[in-house]
Amino acid sequence: MTPLARILARRIAATGPMTLAEFMAECLLHPAHGYYATRDPLGAAGDFTTAPEISQMFGELLGLALAQAWADRGRPAPFVLAEPGPGRGTLMADALRAARAMPGFLEAARVHLVEASPTLRARQRATLAGHAVTWADSLGALPEGPLFLVANEFFDALPIRQFVRDPAGWRERVVGLRDGQLAFGLAPPLPVAALAHRLADTAPGEVVELGAAAEALAALIGGRIARHGGVALIVDYGGWRSRGDTLQAVRAHAPADPLEAPGEADLTAHVDFEALARAAAGAGAAVAGPVAQGVLLDRLGIAARARVLAARLSGDRLGAHLAALRRLTHPDEMGRLFRAIGLHAPGTPPPPGFDGGAP
Ligand code: SAH
Repeated sequence: MTPLARILARRIAATGPMTLAEFMAECLLHPAHGYYATRDPLGAAGDFTTAPEISQMFGELLGLALAQAWADRGRPAPFVLAEPGPGRGTLMADALRAARAMPGFLEAARVHLVEASPTLRARQRATLAGHAVTWADSLGALPEGPLFLVANEFFDALPIRQFVRDPAGWRERVVGLRDGQLAFGLAPPLPVAALAHRLADTAPGEVVELGAAAEALAALIGGRIARHGGVALIVDYGGWRSRGDTLQAVRAHAPADPLEAPGEADLTAHVDFEALARAAAGAGAAVAGPVAQGVLLDRLGIAARARVLAARLSGDRLGAHLAALRRLTHPDEMGRLFRAIGLHAPGTPPPPGFDGGAP
């Protein structure tokens, strides 16, 4: 048992089974033993890699998209340039470098990173040395004002609850104890108001996920953009409408059992883009997309950018660059599973890359 497994087992023995959301939150962010709290999991030596770590083009194109959206909105100054869950700070560094091409953007930007992990904050500080950056524990702590936000693989790290459809209602999937070890179980059936609309499109035995934290943050971002203007680019993997069990644990680039080593494996769930869109729209924002990541990067000009970079490379480095381009955009790689939605204020144009309608 990991130290965190022992802590959770003691708590469950004392107070009963915990929801998956409580379990995920402890596994990822427990101050002493949480996965993100204690390590930098990204990159080849870590447990997983992400689009900004695969190629600088990802952050550059999203940075330019934000800068163009800012110019399209009359260059509000100052404005909040925010990124929740910035990992190593790579996306923001690439975005800021590319956005130098937009006169006035960097001068007006107040860069705010929302990061829960002290380890990753230190990493971001190093990556972004030379930039004035403010860190916050939560999106709610950001100053009010025009908001230009980018989030990549942030929402998938937020805790979810799971419910199994039952003839008598919904049974919540919980983490309890069996023979002293952590084990999944099902709570007794109950009606769940937030799932009333799913009675029509699910059958007994099916699993549905609810991400209350993700929805609350989408509403917060949407509300700020509706009130003060701005855009949000939200990129992640997932589908339109939660269907089935998507909880996954990853350790050293390989799937793992979510209960096997709490705190030692990354835990994520697919993002339910319909739920995010509905929450943001409910708070007054307009929602564009979803657009597949491959299509979005294509529309933002990744082919032209890739050619410019390729012209300076040869041999193995050229091969790696072309492989990265394929990995980000090809439908069999990240191009289709990853998608993006764009939030903007009603009556304003959608952010660049979202204006061609959903493919
Ligand atoms: N966006 C980065 C990192 C993705 S990993 C990239 O694309 O490479 C998820 C990130 O979200 C990490 O930085 C993690 O520490 C952070 N994170 C996870 N849960 C969080 C929470 N509840 N509040 C703030 N940050 C969180």
